[in-house]
Amino acid sequence: MLPGAPRPSVGGAATERAVCVLAPNPSPMTLDGTNTWLIAEPGSDLAVVIDPGPLDEGHLRNVVATAEAAGRRIALTLLTHGHPDHAEGAARFAELTGTPVRALDPALRLGEEGLAAGDVITTGGLELRVVPTPGHTSDSLCFQLPADGAVLTGDTVLGRGTTMVAHPDGRLGDYLDSLRRLQELTVSGGVETILPGHGPVLADARGAVEFYLAHRAGRLAQVETAVEQGLLTVDEVMAHVYADVDRVLWPAAELSVRAQLDYLREHGLI
Ligand SMILES: [Zn+2]
Repeated sequence: MLPGAPRPSVGGAATERAVCVLAPNPSPMTLDGTNTWLIAEPGSDLAVVIDPGPLDEGHLRNVVATAEAAGRRIALTLLTHGHPDHAEGAARFAELTGTPVRALDPALRLGEEGLAAGDVITTGGLELRVVPTPGHTSDSLCFQLPADGAVLTGDTVLGRGTTMVAHPDGRLGDYLDSLRRLQELTVSGGVETILPGHGPVLADARGAVEFYLAHRAGRLAQVETAVEQGLLTVDEVMAHVYADVDRVLWPAAELSVRAQLDYLREHGLI
């Protein structure tokens, strides 16, 4: 269990400005399904969507209907990263809403504008700050919602369990830097709540990020020890270090092991 006693349920209003519409794609990797976030300033008739989710017509229409029921029109779509469970529905969603799609990866954009570190989105009086958080993937971003003391983390921090470093695109050194950047936001940036891409909202952002940092450090130490004991192949390290992890998660864990081995080699630790 992550710190912050996460609420067991997913979906619905999470903060004053953020509403979650849960996509119907649950799995061991996506937990309850993808959280599609609708963000709007109180009193504004414009909303921003973060991660339309998979290409599921019913879900995409449900997101539009949820905005409309609150008297709002969707004006902009943002992506935390390009994995299909977050981004596959973006093109269809843009068609349905007539909105541009902004992402770090130019291949995912629809319209003129991209997204870069330090960009501030100001749709309908809202303020969303773009926080670069590579590591899960190289194109991963978080979005800080200062007015609600919240940060939307995509797959960088999940509402349950831990995430994977999707080697070779995702890199462990980047991921640790990104977690430290998020930690800083929780220490001196006013961030108290995590609105993740999967799983429940976390009310103790600092505790969750520090749990993630400790978990990664622990796994890294286990991998380092395994290699020092002569376990040389990825399979051997997996069997030794991830023996406690459900087998269905092994393909993802294997990518994390590869990322950890790269990191240890690059730092001259093995
Ligand atoms: Zn992902």
